[in-house]
Amino acid sequence: MAETFKALIARETDGKAACEFEDLTVDDLPDDGDALVSVAYSTLNYKDGLAIKGNQGKVMRSLPMVPGIDLSGVVEDPGSSGLNPGDEVVVTGWGLSETAWGGYTQKARLNSDWLLPLPAGISLQQSMAIGTAGFTAMLSVMALEHMGLEPSQGEVLVTGAAGGVGSVAVAILANLGYDVAASTGRAEQHDYLKSLGAKSIVDRAELEEEGGPMRRTRWAGGVDTVGSKILVNSMAQITPNGSIAVCGLAAGADLPATVIPLILRGVSLLGINSVYVSNEKRQVAWDRLAKELPMDLLDSMTEVVPFAELPRLAGEILKGQVRGRTVVDLNA
Ligand code: NDP
Repeated sequence: MAETFKALIARETDGKAACEFEDLTVDDLPDDGDALVSVAYSTLNYKDGLAIKGNQGKVMRSLPMVPGIDLSGVVEDPGSSGLNPGDEVVVTGWGLSETAWGGYTQKARLNSDWLLPLPAGISLQQSMAIGTAGFTAMLSVMALEHMGLEPSQGEVLVTGAAGGVGSVAVAILANLGYDVAASTGRAEQHDYLKSLGAKSIVDRAELEEEGGPMRRTRWAGGVDTVGSKILVNSMAQITPNGSIAVCGLAAGADLPATVIPLILRGVSLLGINSVYVSNEKRQVAWDRLAKELPMDLLDSMTEVVPFAELPRLAGEILKGQVRGRTVVDLNA
């Protein structure tokens, strides 16, 4: 009999997407990939919460679908990647959980172009503690640096700071010598954010207050994971010619803004998309993560949970109750 393995799979039930654990064989996997990976770990990102809890935002474009936008594991069949069986790899984005089956499965068939060799100094588990969230945080930092941001220019604001992207962004920026202002709506996370290196804490409510398009300047740059009014108010406080890396929508996808700070202060909004990024840029970002994200801080912001816990935690991340990063151990 063919060997079976576990997967969390979304199928259409009564016109809605519903996720259940199932036993599959490799023959059940879609056959449009040329590589096979034995998955060790995945993660829980905000987008995964949306997919698991009824495919909100239509993350999964077709059903059935295995959700999970990230995975790390060991190559069984390298396809045309040039890697060898037994090599350790990390895969994030590339449409996993959207147009291709994702990481919530003990075996995944994938396009071999997507396999990134695990960077030196990072374990399979740590690569998923980083995951799409950490990769996005690093892409955001790279985008700000590309615009000329340097630590001497002043404080950098991180919004949604106690979340996954926010926590990694705080830790990287602080380690690079920036004074980080961490904005959070959770008073109980202030000590946590300081332990990651935040120099000051900004109450989320302060950034939700109504205000004009140009206010007293406070930040040389920003990493915004929440969007909406908070992003607009952050823009209003950026110093001339500063930038905000815009990567999330935890507060909303709307942008109720004017162009005033952009045209009168030269403020730039830098859009960040972590899904479709060249392997060259991925390599640079992951190599930097291995060097510039202190692994002890990464471990301190990470909770490792067994596969079976995923459906419960998906609800918590959507309510903004998950702190830092959640790694899913596919074999626990
Ligand atoms: P998390 O849920 O871990 O973090 C989001 C944080 O946002 C929360 O922890 C909370 O931080 C804050 N938050 C939640 N709800 C609200 C609200 N209503 N108003 C204001 N702040 C709120 O998610 P991730 O870190 O995984 O992702 C963050 C965002 O980035 C998501 O929107 C996600 O879709 C997006 N994203 C985009 C990527 C890209 O490629 N552009 C890649 C990865 C993520 P606190 O408690 O500190 O206030």
